Amino acid sequence: MIRAFALPLAHPLETARGTIDERRGFLFARNGGIGEATPLPGWTESLGACEQALEAAESADGWNDALAACEDAPAARHAVSLAKLDAEARDANVSFAHHLAENPAESVPVNATVGDASVEDTVDEVRAAVERGFDTVKVKVGARSVEADVERLRAVRDATDVTLRADANGTWTREQAREAFDAFADLGVEYVEQPLPADDLAGHADLRGGEVGVALDESLTEHALGDVLDAADYVVLKPMALGGVDRALDAVRDARRAGVQPVVTTTVDAVVARTAAVHLAAAIPDVPACGLATSDRLADDLADDPAPVEDGRIRVPETPGHGVSVDLAEVNADA
Ligand SMILES: [Mg+2]
Repeated sequence: MIRAFALPLAHPLETARGTIDERRGFLFARNGGIGEATPLPGWTESLGACEQALEAAESADGWNDALAACEDAPAARHAVSLAKLDAEARDANVSFAHHLAENPAESVPVNATVGDASVEDTVDEVRAAVERGFDTVKVKVGARSVEADVERLRAVRDATDVTLRADANGTWTREQAREAFDAFADLGVEYVEQPLPADDLAGHADLRGGEVGVALDESLTEHALGDVLDAADYVVLKPMALGGVDRALDAVRDARRAGVQPVVTTTVDAVVARTAAVHLAAAIPDVPACGLATSDRLADDLADDPAPVEDGRIRVPETPGHGVSVDLAEVNADA
């Protein structure tokens, strides 16, 4: 069964393809398992291509043919593969995390995200996140001069001892990135996500390996994983963009073999995909803080959240499957 949904965002979201104010997608249910496809053009196929692939999957016999029908549609494949793994885990009466790994973690650390803001507001927002229990905070940079961003992070460092990350979303030149990395080293910044444009793997390879790590995110939209791993210290893995939790777990193993740290995050997905990503993170031994505290980006959701953020961590649901109870009859596409 395929159910279309539309969920309003709490705040408009800037994407590479423009600003959006809702997330549209589909739930795919089969054999007692439920998966989610929430495409994000730029990262995945379009909504229309996703629906077509899911319809082909629905009419296919068996899981293998259903998965093959989604080969070129990562969000659709995410839904079908998740429905399959969820059904298998429910049949085995184990949680999704236990289905993925022998000894999954009981909870996973997550980071808070602070957007572009003045020095004062940045410090206030980081302090508020620390008070809510976050040990790691990611600050968006690149919207103002490197000097101004360094001032923001220096003020944060003076105010708290939180683990600091920055995300430049590919906005810097190589010169700006070098200047920022030199200054951030003194502030103990753990890593910068996507300092340079997505296609500049050589530039990232030159920056990696220093005191401040290079985390690649958008580069995965333009390059194969193996090439990205050669240019990064950390890799940001989005199961929806990779075509499923199973593929994301393969990417985790490739990353660890290459000495690159995997960080799991979402493409601002609804509760089914978000919770599946939490189980995936739990299946990664000693996973760094992940970008999974994204439920507050949605103004509404498909079901109760079985994995809310508490004290900067998410406890992994222990019920069979992914643990999200969705009333499919209640799901509809009227945002
Ligand atoms: Mg990023």
